[in-house]
Amino acid sequence: MNVLDLFGYSIDLLAVLLLALGLKGLSTVRSARSANGLAALAMGLAVLGLLLQVQPDPIAWLWIAIGSAAGGLLGLITARRVPMTAMPETVALFNGCGGMASLLVALAVALYDSADADLVSIISIVISVFVGAITFSGSIAAMGKLQGWLGTPGWTQSGIRHAVNIVLALMAVVAGFALPADPTGLPLWLLLVVSTLLGIGVTLPIGGADMPVVISLLNSYSGVAAAAAGFVVGSQLLIVAGAMVGAAGLILTQVMCTGMNRSLVSVLFGGALGGSAPVGGGGDEAGYSRIVSCSAEECAMALENAERVVFVPGYGLAVAQAQHALRELSKLLEANGSEVSYAIHPVAGRMPGHMNVLLAEADVPYEQLLEMDTVNPEFPRTDVVIVLGANDVVNPDAKNDSTSPLYGMPVLEVDQSRQVFVVKRSLGAGYAGIKNALFELPQTAMVFGDAKAVLQQLCTELRSQGVGKVAA
Ligand code: NAP
Repeated sequence: MNVLDLFGYSIDLLAVLLLALGLKGLSTVRSARSANGLAALAMGLAVLGLLLQVQPDPIAWLWIAIGSAAGGLLGLITARRVPMTAMPETVALFNGCGGMASLLVALAVALYDSADADLVSIISIVISVFVGAITFSGSIAAMGKLQGWLGTPGWTQSGIRHAVNIVLALMAVVAGFALPADPTGLPLWLLLVVSTLLGIGVTLPIGGADMPVVISLLNSYSGVAAAAAGFVVGSQLLIVAGAMVGAAGLILTQVMCTGMNRSLVSVLFGGALGGSAPVGGGGDEAGYSRIVSCSAEECAMALENAERVVFVPGYGLAVAQAQHALRELSKLLEANGSEVSYAIHPVAGRMPGHMNVLLAEADVPYEQLLEMDTVNPEFPRTDVVIVLGANDVVNPDAKNDSTSPLYGMPVLEVDQSRQVFVVKRSLGAGYAGIKNALFELPQTAMVFGDAKAVLQQLCTELRSQGVGKVAA
Protein backbone atom coordinates (compact mmCIF):
# COMPACT_ATOMS: atom_id res chain seq x y z
CA MET A 1 0.00 0.00 0.00
CA ASN A 2 1.52 3.34 -1.03
CA VAL A 3 1.18 6.69 0.71
CA LEU A 4 -1.59 7.85 -1.63
CA ASP A 5 -3.62 4.69 -0.88
CA LEU A 6 -3.15 5.21 2.86
CA PHE A 7 -4.21 8.82 2.56
CA GLY A 8 -7.21 7.75 0.45
CA TYR A 9 -8.34 5.19 3.07
CA SER A 10 -7.98 7.75 5.86
CA ILE A 11 -10.21 10.09 3.90
CA ASP A 12 -12.72 7.25 3.43
CA LEU A 13 -12.76 6.70 7.19
CA LEU A 14 -13.31 10.39 7.82
CA ALA A 15 -16.12 10.40 5.25
CA VAL A 16 -17.84 7.48 7.03
CA LEU A 17 -17.57 9.27 10.38
CA LEU A 18 -18.98 12.48 8.92
CA LEU A 19 -21.84 10.55 7.29
CA ALA A 20 -22.71 8.93 10.60
CA LEU A 21 -22.57 12.29 12.39
CA GLY A 22 -24.65 13.82 9.60
CA LEU A 23 -27.35 11.17 9.95
CA LYS A 24 -27.40 11.63 13.71
CA GLY A 25 -27.66 15.41 13.38
CA LEU A 26 -30.61 15.11 11.00
CA SER A 27 -32.71 13.74 13.85
CA THR A 28 -33.12 17.14 15.51
CA VAL A 29 -34.37 20.34 13.90
CA ARG A 30 -31.67 22.49 15.44
CA SER A 31 -28.78 20.48 14.01
CA ALA A 32 -30.40 19.33 10.74
CA ARG A 33 -29.01 22.09 8.52
CA SER A 34 -25.40 21.68 9.65
CA ALA A 35 -25.82 17.88 9.59
CA ASN A 36 -26.83 18.10 5.95
CA GLY A 37 -23.66 20.10 5.31
CA LEU A 38 -21.58 17.40 7.07
CA ALA A 39 -23.13 14.67 4.93
CA ALA A 40 -22.45 16.69 1.76
CA LEU A 41 -18.83 17.18 2.87
CA ALA A 42 -18.60 13.42 3.47
CA MET A 43 -19.71 12.75 -0.10
CA GLY A 44 -17.13 15.23 -1.41
CA LEU A 45 -14.40 13.51 0.64
CA ALA A 46 -15.59 10.12 -0.65
CA VAL A 47 -14.97 11.26 -4.22
CA LEU A 48 -11.57 12.67 -3.25
CA GLY A 49 -10.66 9.40 -1.49
CA LEU A 50 -11.59 7.49 -4.63
CA LEU A 51 -9.47 9.76 -6.83
CA LEU A 52 -6.46 9.04 -4.61
CA GLN A 53 -7.04 5.29 -4.63
CA VAL A 54 -7.46 4.68 -8.37
CA GLN A 55 -4.24 3.98 -10.24
CA PRO A 56 -2.70 7.26 -11.39
CA ASP A 57 -4.72 7.51 -14.60
CA PRO A 58 -5.58 10.97 -15.95
CA ILE A 59 -8.41 9.55 -18.09
CA ALA A 60 -10.11 7.89 -15.06
CA TRP A 61 -9.62 11.03 -12.99
CA LEU A 62 -11.07 13.12 -15.78
CA TRP A 63 -14.18 10.92 -16.00
CA ILE A 64 -14.68 11.03 -12.23
CA ALA A 65 -14.24 14.82 -12.21
CA ILE A 66 -16.68 15.27 -15.11
CA GLY A 67 -19.26 12.96 -13.47
CA SER A 68 -18.94 14.68 -10.08
CA ALA A 69 -19.18 18.16 -11.59
CA ALA A 70 -22.18 17.29 -13.77
CA GLY A 71 -24.01 15.49 -10.92
CA GLY A 72 -23.19 18.27 -8.45
CA LEU A 73 -24.43 20.94 -10.83
CA LEU A 74 -27.66 19.08 -11.57
CA GLY A 75 -28.22 18.55 -7.83
CA LEU A 76 -27.61 22.24 -7.13
CA ILE A 77 -29.99 23.43 -9.84
CA THR A 78 -32.67 20.97 -8.72
CA ALA A 79 -32.34 21.93 -5.06
CA ARG A 80 -32.71 25.62 -5.91
CA ARG A 81 -35.59 25.26 -8.34
CA VAL A 82 -37.86 22.58 -6.93
CA PRO A 83 -40.63 23.95 -4.70
CA MET A 84 -41.10 22.33 -1.29
CA THR A 85 -44.46 20.91 -2.39
CA ALA A 86 -42.72 18.89 -5.12
CA MET A 87 -40.09 17.44 -2.77
CA PRO A 88 -41.53 13.87 -2.69
CA GLU A 89 -41.20 13.61 -6.50
CA THR A 90 -37.67 14.98 -6.30
CA VAL A 91 -36.65 12.48 -3.63
CA ALA A 92 -38.16 9.72 -5.78
CA LEU A 93 -36.05 10.87 -8.74
CA PHE A 94 -32.90 10.97 -6.61
CA ASN A 95 -33.61 7.47 -5.28
CA GLY A 96 -34.06 6.29 -8.86
CA CYS A 97 -30.67 7.78 -9.78
CA GLY A 98 -29.08 5.97 -6.80
CA GLY A 99 -30.62 2.66 -7.87
CA MET A 100 -29.52 3.18 -11.46
CA ALA A 101 -25.94 4.02 -10.42
CA SER A 102 -25.62 0.79 -8.42
CA LEU A 103 -27.20 -1.16 -11.24
CA LEU A 104 -24.78 0.28 -13.82
CA VAL A 105 -21.74 -0.44 -11.62
CA ALA A 106 -22.84 -4.07 -11.19
CA LEU A 107 -23.59 -4.43 -14.91
CA ALA A 108 -20.19 -3.03 -15.87
CA VAL A 109 -18.37 -5.44 -13.54
CA ALA A 110 -20.51 -8.37 -14.75
CA LEU A 111 -19.84 -7.59 -18.41
CA TYR A 112 -16.17 -6.62 -18.30
CA ASP A 113 -14.61 -7.97 -15.13
CA SER A 114 -16.43 -11.11 -14.02
CA ALA A 115 -14.12 -13.74 -15.52
CA ASP A 116 -12.32 -14.37 -12.21
CA ALA A 117 -15.08 -13.18 -9.91
CA ASP A 118 -15.67 -15.22 -6.75
CA LEU A 119 -19.09 -16.32 -5.50
CA VAL A 120 -19.47 -13.31 -3.16
CA SER A 121 -18.94 -10.92 -6.07
CA ILE A 122 -21.41 -12.81 -8.27
CA ILE A 123 -24.07 -12.84 -5.52
CA SER A 124 -23.44 -9.13 -4.98
CA ILE A 125 -23.90 -8.49 -8.71
CA VAL A 126 -27.23 -10.37 -8.62
CA ILE A 127 -28.45 -8.36 -5.60
CA SER A 128 -27.23 -5.07 -7.01
CA VAL A 129 -28.88 -5.60 -10.41
CA PHE A 130 -32.11 -6.92 -8.83
CA VAL A 131 -32.54 -4.26 -6.13
CA GLY A 132 -31.02 -1.46 -8.26
CA ALA A 133 -33.40 -2.12 -11.17
CA ILE A 134 -36.44 -2.31 -8.86
CA THR A 135 -35.36 0.92 -7.17
CA PHE A 136 -34.80 2.68 -10.47
CA SER A 137 -38.04 1.71 -12.23
CA GLY A 138 -40.13 1.86 -9.05
CA SER A 139 -38.86 5.35 -8.22
CA ILE A 140 -39.47 6.64 -11.74
CA ALA A 141 -43.01 5.16 -11.64
CA ALA A 142 -43.56 6.80 -8.22
CA MET A 143 -42.37 10.15 -9.54
CA GLY A 144 -44.61 9.79 -12.60
CA LYS A 145 -47.62 9.07 -10.41
CA LEU A 146 -46.98 12.00 -8.09
CA GLN A 147 -46.47 14.33 -11.05
CA GLY A 148 -49.77 13.10 -12.51
CA TRP A 149 -48.02 11.68 -15.60
CA LEU A 150 -49.01 8.12 -14.71
CA GLY A 151 -52.39 6.90 -13.53
CA THR A 152 -53.40 3.68 -11.81
CA PRO A 153 -54.45 1.20 -14.53
CA GLY A 154 -57.61 -0.75 -13.73
CA TRP A 155 -55.95 -4.17 -13.95
CA THR A 156 -53.52 -3.25 -11.19
CA GLN A 157 -56.45 -3.07 -8.77
CA SER A 158 -57.39 -6.72 -9.29
CA GLY A 159 -55.70 -9.97 -8.32
CA ILE A 160 -54.00 -10.03 -11.74
CA ARG A 161 -51.25 -7.72 -10.51
CA HIS A 162 -50.28 -10.13 -7.74
CA ALA A 163 -50.08 -12.95 -10.30
CA VAL A 164 -47.98 -10.80 -12.65
CA ASN A 165 -45.63 -9.69 -9.87
CA ILE A 166 -45.21 -13.22 -8.53
CA VAL A 167 -44.32 -14.51 -12.02
CA LEU A 168 -41.80 -11.66 -12.46
CA ALA A 169 -40.27 -12.32 -9.04
CA LEU A 170 -39.95 -16.06 -9.81
CA MET A 171 -38.28 -15.29 -13.15
CA ALA A 172 -35.85 -13.00 -11.33
CA VAL A 173 -35.01 -15.80 -8.88
CA VAL A 174 -34.40 -18.26 -11.73
CA ALA A 175 -32.21 -15.72 -13.57
CA GLY A 176 -30.32 -14.99 -10.34
CA PHE A 177 -29.52 -18.65 -9.79
CA ALA A 178 -28.50 -19.11 -13.42
CA LEU A 179 -26.21 -16.07 -13.45
CA PRO A 180 -23.07 -17.60 -11.81
CA ALA A 181 -22.84 -20.08 -14.69
CA ASP A 182 -23.05 -17.35 -17.33
CA PRO A 183 -22.45 -13.87 -15.84
CA THR A 184 -22.47 -12.04 -19.19
CA GLY A 185 -25.22 -13.89 -21.03
CA LEU A 186 -28.99 -14.29 -21.03
CA PRO A 187 -29.51 -14.62 -17.20
CA LEU A 188 -28.02 -11.15 -16.65
CA TRP A 189 -30.31 -9.50 -19.19
CA LEU A 190 -33.33 -11.49 -18.03
CA LEU A 191 -32.63 -10.44 -14.45
CA LEU A 192 -32.34 -6.81 -15.55
CA VAL A 193 -35.58 -6.80 -17.54
CA VAL A 194 -37.81 -8.68 -15.06
CA SER A 195 -36.49 -6.68 -12.08
CA THR A 196 -37.23 -3.43 -13.94
CA LEU A 197 -40.75 -4.63 -14.73
CA LEU A 198 -41.20 -5.80 -11.12
CA GLY A 199 -40.35 -2.30 -9.83
CA ILE A 200 -43.08 -0.85 -12.03
CA GLY A 201 -45.51 -3.67 -11.22
CA VAL A 202 -45.14 -3.17 -7.47
CA THR A 203 -45.31 0.64 -7.52
CA LEU A 204 -47.98 1.31 -10.15
CA PRO A 205 -50.95 0.00 -8.12
CA ILE A 206 -50.12 2.06 -5.03
CA GLY A 207 -52.36 5.04 -4.33
CA GLY A 208 -51.22 8.66 -4.07
CA ALA A 209 -51.70 8.82 -0.30
CA ASP A 210 -49.29 5.95 0.26
CA MET A 211 -46.72 7.04 -2.29
CA PRO A 212 -44.42 8.95 0.12
CA VAL A 213 -44.16 5.79 2.24
CA VAL A 214 -43.18 3.83 -0.85
CA ILE A 215 -40.62 6.49 -1.75
CA SER A 216 -39.10 6.16 1.69
CA LEU A 217 -38.97 2.38 1.23
CA LEU A 218 -37.37 2.80 -2.21
CA ASN A 219 -34.83 5.08 -0.53
CA SER A 220 -33.97 2.18 1.74
CA TYR A 221 -33.68 -0.11 -1.32
CA SER A 222 -31.29 2.34 -2.98
CA GLY A 223 -29.07 1.97 0.10
CA VAL A 224 -29.20 -1.83 -0.15
CA ALA A 225 -28.34 -1.65 -3.87
CA ALA A 226 -25.42 0.67 -3.11
CA ALA A 227 -24.13 -1.62 -0.34
CA ALA A 228 -24.30 -4.58 -2.74
CA ALA A 229 -22.46 -2.50 -5.37
CA GLY A 230 -19.86 -1.81 -2.64
CA PHE A 231 -19.26 -5.59 -2.37
CA VAL A 232 -19.06 -5.83 -6.16
CA VAL A 233 -16.27 -3.24 -6.47
CA GLY A 234 -14.71 -3.90 -3.04
CA SER A 235 -15.47 -0.44 -1.62
CA GLN A 236 -15.89 -0.42 2.16
CA LEU A 237 -17.09 3.17 1.99
CA LEU A 238 -19.94 2.26 -0.36
CA ILE A 239 -20.87 -0.73 1.80
CA VAL A 240 -21.05 1.38 4.97
CA ALA A 241 -22.82 4.34 3.33
CA GLY A 242 -25.30 2.03 1.58
CA ALA A 243 -26.04 0.17 4.81
CA MET A 244 -26.67 3.48 6.61
CA VAL A 245 -29.05 4.69 3.90
CA GLY A 246 -30.79 1.31 3.87
CA ALA A 247 -31.32 1.30 7.64
CA ALA A 248 -32.31 4.99 7.82
CA GLY A 249 -34.85 4.54 4.99
CA LEU A 250 -36.36 1.55 6.73
CA ILE A 251 -36.69 3.41 10.05
CA LEU A 252 -38.29 6.40 8.30
CA THR A 253 -40.73 4.08 6.51
CA GLN A 254 -41.75 2.64 9.87
CA VAL A 255 -42.17 6.11 11.41
CA MET A 256 -44.36 7.23 8.48
CA CYS A 257 -46.50 4.09 8.61
CA THR A 258 -47.10 4.67 12.33
CA GLY A 259 -47.88 8.37 11.78
CA MET A 260 -50.39 7.54 9.04
CA ASN A 261 -51.81 4.54 10.87
CA ARG A 262 -50.99 2.20 7.97
CA SER A 263 -49.17 -1.09 7.98
CA LEU A 264 -46.39 -1.56 5.45
CA VAL A 265 -48.13 -4.68 4.17
CA SER A 266 -51.33 -2.75 3.45
CA VAL A 267 -49.34 0.01 1.76
CA LEU A 268 -47.50 -2.44 -0.50
CA PHE A 269 -50.27 -4.88 -1.23
CA GLY A 270 -53.41 -2.86 -0.62
CA GLY A 271 -53.10 -0.90 -3.86
CA ALA A 272 -54.80 2.41 -4.45
CA LEU A 273 -58.01 1.27 -2.81
CA GLY A 274 -58.88 3.66 -0.04
CA GLY A 275 -55.71 5.57 -0.52
CA SER A 276 -56.11 7.67 -3.60
CA ALA A 277 -57.93 10.67 -2.25
CA PRO A 278 -57.38 13.96 -3.99
CA VAL A 279 -54.06 15.45 -3.06
CA GLY A 280 -54.05 18.64 -1.07
CA GLY A 281 -57.70 19.49 -0.79
CA GLY A 282 -60.79 19.15 -2.92
CA GLY A 283 -63.12 16.32 -1.99
CA ASP A 284 -66.66 16.30 -0.71
CA GLU A 285 -67.93 19.47 0.92
CA ALA A 286 -71.35 18.03 1.75
CA GLY A 287 -72.27 16.30 4.98
CA TYR A 288 -71.63 19.06 7.52
CA SER A 289 -74.61 19.99 9.68
CA ARG A 290 -73.16 22.76 11.88
CA ILE A 291 -70.53 25.09 10.52
CA VAL A 292 -69.73 28.48 12.01
CA SER A 293 -67.58 30.79 9.94
CA CYS A 294 -66.10 34.11 10.94
CA SER A 295 -64.08 36.95 9.45
CA ALA A 296 -60.39 37.64 9.91
CA GLU A 297 -61.42 40.64 12.00
CA GLU A 298 -63.23 38.44 14.57
CA CYS A 299 -60.31 36.04 14.63
CA ALA A 300 -57.91 38.96 15.22
CA MET A 301 -59.99 40.12 18.19
CA ALA A 302 -59.70 36.68 19.81
CA LEU A 303 -55.96 36.66 19.16
CA GLU A 304 -55.50 40.09 20.66
CA ASN A 305 -56.79 38.85 24.01
CA ALA A 306 -55.17 35.42 23.99
CA GLU A 307 -52.41 34.63 26.47
CA ARG A 308 -51.42 31.39 24.83
CA VAL A 309 -51.69 30.74 21.08
CA VAL A 310 -50.78 27.56 19.21
CA PHE A 311 -50.49 27.46 15.41
CA VAL A 312 -51.05 24.15 13.65
CA PRO A 313 -49.42 24.22 10.21
CA GLY A 314 -50.48 21.73 7.53
CA TYR A 315 -50.16 21.05 3.84
CA GLY A 316 -52.25 24.12 2.93
CA LEU A 317 -49.68 26.42 4.58
CA ALA A 318 -47.06 25.01 2.21
CA VAL A 319 -49.38 25.40 -0.79
CA ALA A 320 -50.08 29.03 0.17
CA GLN A 321 -46.38 29.68 0.94
CA ALA A 322 -47.64 31.52 3.98
CA GLN A 323 -44.75 30.77 6.35
CA HIS A 324 -43.37 34.31 6.30
CA ALA A 325 -46.80 35.86 6.91
CA LEU A 326 -47.22 33.41 9.80
CA ARG A 327 -43.90 34.45 11.34
CA GLU A 328 -44.92 38.08 11.04
CA LEU A 329 -48.20 37.39 12.85
CA SER A 330 -46.33 35.47 15.57
CA LYS A 331 -44.01 38.42 16.14
CA LEU A 332 -46.99 40.76 16.52
CA LEU A 333 -48.63 38.42 19.03
CA GLU A 334 -45.42 38.07 21.01
CA ALA A 335 -45.08 41.84 21.04
CA ASN A 336 -48.61 41.87 22.44
CA GLY A 337 -47.55 39.57 25.29
CA SER A 338 -48.91 36.24 23.97
CA GLU A 339 -47.00 33.00 24.33
CA VAL A 340 -46.75 31.49 20.83
CA SER A 341 -45.87 27.98 19.74
CA TYR A 342 -46.32 25.68 16.74
CA ALA A 343 -47.71 22.15 16.94
CA ILE A 344 -45.91 19.79 14.57
CA HIS A 345 -47.53 16.52 13.53
CA PRO A 346 -45.06 13.91 12.19
CA VAL A 347 -46.95 13.51 8.88
CA ALA A 348 -48.32 17.02 8.41
CA GLY A 349 -47.70 18.12 4.83
CA ARG A 350 -46.47 15.69 2.22
CA MET A 351 -43.13 14.48 3.48
CA PRO A 352 -41.48 13.86 6.83
CA GLY A 353 -40.23 17.11 8.33
CA HIS A 354 -42.19 19.18 5.78
CA MET A 355 -43.48 21.66 8.37
CA ASN A 356 -40.11 21.96 10.12
CA VAL A 357 -38.42 22.90 6.86
CA LEU A 358 -41.19 25.33 5.95
CA LEU A 359 -41.08 27.12 9.29
CA ALA A 360 -37.28 27.12 9.37
CA GLU A 361 -37.41 29.04 6.06
CA ALA A 362 -39.23 31.80 7.95
CA ASP A 363 -36.72 31.72 10.85
CA VAL A 364 -39.23 30.44 13.39
CA PRO A 365 -37.22 29.72 16.58
CA TYR A 366 -36.69 25.97 17.01
CA GLU A 367 -37.79 26.03 20.63
CA GLN A 368 -41.27 27.15 19.56
CA LEU A 369 -41.78 23.99 17.48
CA LEU A 370 -43.49 21.43 19.69
CA GLU A 371 -43.75 17.76 18.74
CA MET A 372 -47.15 16.09 19.02
CA ASP A 373 -46.46 14.31 22.31
CA THR A 374 -45.24 17.53 23.92
CA VAL A 375 -48.01 19.80 22.69
CA ASN A 376 -51.04 17.55 23.17
CA PRO A 377 -51.13 17.92 26.98
CA GLU A 378 -50.82 21.72 26.48
CA PHE A 379 -54.03 22.16 24.45
CA PRO A 380 -56.46 22.29 27.42
CA ARG A 381 -54.62 25.39 28.67
CA THR A 382 -54.43 27.02 25.24
CA ASP A 383 -56.68 30.02 24.57
CA VAL A 384 -56.60 30.06 20.79
CA VAL A 385 -55.53 27.45 18.27
CA ILE A 386 -55.16 28.52 14.64
CA VAL A 387 -55.21 25.58 12.22
CA LEU A 388 -53.51 26.69 9.01
CA GLY A 389 -54.18 24.46 6.00
CA ALA A 390 -54.11 21.35 8.18
CA ASN A 391 -56.97 18.88 8.09
CA ASP A 392 -56.39 15.14 8.66
CA VAL A 393 -53.80 15.72 11.39
CA VAL A 394 -56.37 17.53 13.58
CA ASN A 395 -59.38 15.29 12.89
CA PRO A 396 -60.80 14.09 16.25
CA ASP A 397 -62.50 11.15 14.50
CA ALA A 398 -59.09 9.52 14.51
CA LYS A 399 -59.58 9.13 18.28
CA ASN A 400 -63.36 8.93 18.60
CA ASP A 401 -64.87 7.18 15.58
CA SER A 402 -63.89 3.55 15.10
CA THR A 403 -65.48 3.57 11.62
CA SER A 404 -63.26 6.42 10.39
CA PRO A 405 -60.46 5.49 7.94
CA LEU A 406 -58.20 7.60 10.15
CA TYR A 407 -59.15 5.75 13.35
CA GLY A 408 -56.04 4.94 15.37
CA MET A 409 -53.84 7.59 13.73
CA PRO A 410 -52.31 9.79 16.45
CA VAL A 411 -53.57 13.37 15.94
CA LEU A 412 -53.05 16.84 17.42
CA GLU A 413 -55.79 17.18 20.02
CA VAL A 414 -56.75 20.75 19.19
CA ASP A 415 -60.38 19.96 20.09
CA GLN A 416 -59.25 20.13 23.74
CA SER A 417 -58.42 23.85 23.52
CA ARG A 418 -60.77 26.73 24.33
CA GLN A 419 -61.15 28.24 20.87
CA VAL A 420 -60.16 26.93 17.44
CA PHE A 421 -59.99 28.85 14.16
CA VAL A 422 -59.56 26.75 11.03
CA VAL A 423 -58.08 28.66 8.11
CA LYS A 424 -58.71 26.99 4.74
CA ARG A 425 -60.31 27.85 1.44
CA SER A 426 -63.41 25.65 1.67
CA LEU A 427 -64.89 22.68 3.49
CA GLY A 428 -62.96 20.43 1.11
CA ALA A 429 -61.36 17.29 2.47
CA GLY A 430 -57.69 16.72 3.21
CA TYR A 431 -55.48 13.90 1.97
CA ALA A 432 -57.61 11.13 3.47
CA GLY A 433 -60.63 12.48 1.56
CA ILE A 434 -62.95 12.46 4.56
CA LYS A 435 -65.04 14.86 6.62
CA ASN A 436 -63.45 16.51 9.65
CA ALA A 437 -65.44 16.40 12.90
CA LEU A 438 -63.39 19.33 14.25
CA PHE A 439 -65.18 21.76 11.94
CA GLU A 440 -68.53 21.09 13.66
CA LEU A 441 -67.42 21.46 17.26
CA PRO A 442 -68.89 24.37 19.25
CA GLN A 443 -65.49 25.94 19.93
CA THR A 444 -64.52 25.88 16.23
CA ALA A 445 -64.95 28.69 13.70
CA MET A 446 -63.89 28.50 10.07
CA VAL A 447 -61.99 31.41 8.53
CA PHE A 448 -62.37 30.75 4.82
CA GLY A 449 -59.61 31.94 2.51
CA ASP A 450 -56.10 31.32 1.29
CA ALA A 451 -53.81 30.89 4.30
CA LYS A 452 -51.40 33.64 3.24
CA ALA A 453 -54.18 36.14 2.51
CA VAL A 454 -55.89 35.43 5.85
CA LEU A 455 -52.64 35.75 7.79
CA GLN A 456 -51.89 39.05 6.10
CA GLN A 457 -55.38 40.28 6.98
CA LEU A 458 -54.84 39.23 10.59
CA CYS A 459 -51.59 41.21 10.72
CA THR A 460 -53.32 44.25 9.25
CA GLU A 461 -56.17 43.97 11.77
CA LEU A 462 -53.81 43.66 14.73
CA ARG A 463 -51.68 46.57 13.54
CA SER A 464 -54.79 48.69 13.11
CA GLN A 465 -55.46 48.01 16.82
CA GLY A 466 -52.00 49.29 17.68
CA VAL A 467 -50.50 45.84 18.34
CA GLY A 468 -46.76 45.70 17.75
CA LYS A 469 -46.21 49.46 17.78
CA VAL A 470 -44.36 49.49 21.12
CA ALA A 471 -42.04 46.65 20.13
CA ALA A 472 -41.27 48.25 16.79
P1 NAP B 1 -54.36 17.66 4.58
O1 NAP B 1 -55.16 16.74 5.42
O2 NAP B 1 -53.88 17.16 3.26
O3 NAP B 1 -55.22 18.98 4.37
C1 NAP B 1 -54.68 20.07 3.72
C2 NAP B 1 -55.73 21.15 3.70
O4 NAP B 1 -55.10 22.31 3.23
C3 NAP B 1 -56.87 20.85 2.77
O5 NAP B 1 -58.01 20.45 3.46
C4 NAP B 1 -57.07 22.16 1.99
O6 NAP B 1 -58.40 22.63 2.19
C5 NAP B 1 -56.10 23.12 2.67
N1 NAP B 1 -55.46 24.02 1.73
C6 NAP B 1 -54.94 23.76 0.53
N2 NAP B 1 -54.47 24.87 -0.03
C7 NAP B 1 -54.68 25.88 0.85
C8 NAP B 1 -54.41 27.26 0.85
N3 NAP B 1 -53.81 27.86 -0.18
N4 NAP B 1 -54.76 27.98 1.93
C9 NAP B 1 -55.37 27.41 2.97
N5 NAP B 1 -55.67 26.09 3.03
C10 NAP B 1 -55.32 25.33 1.99
O7 NAP B 1 -53.08 18.20 5.33
P2 NAP B 1 -52.43 17.78 6.72
O8 NAP B 1 -53.39 18.00 7.84
O9 NAP B 1 -51.10 18.42 6.74
O10 NAP B 1 -52.28 16.21 6.65
C11 NAP B 1 -51.32 15.58 5.86
C12 NAP B 1 -51.93 14.38 5.19
O11 NAP B 1 -51.02 13.91 4.20
C13 NAP B 1 -52.21 13.26 6.16
O12 NAP B 1 -53.36 12.55 5.78
C14 NAP B 1 -50.98 12.38 5.97
O13 NAP B 1 -51.20 11.02 6.33
C15 NAP B 1 -50.76 12.55 4.49
N6 NAP B 1 -49.38 12.24 4.10
C16 NAP B 1 -48.35 12.84 4.76
C17 NAP B 1 -47.05 12.50 4.43
C18 NAP B 1 -45.87 13.07 5.15
O14 NAP B 1 -44.81 12.45 5.16
N7 NAP B 1 -46.00 14.24 5.74
C19 NAP B 1 -46.82 11.60 3.41
C20 NAP B 1 -47.94 11.06 2.74
C21 NAP B 1 -49.20 11.40 3.09
P3 NAP B 1 -59.06 23.61 1.12
O15 NAP B 1 -58.95 22.95 -0.19
O16 NAP B 1 -60.46 23.74 1.61
O17 NAP B 1 -58.31 24.90 1.20
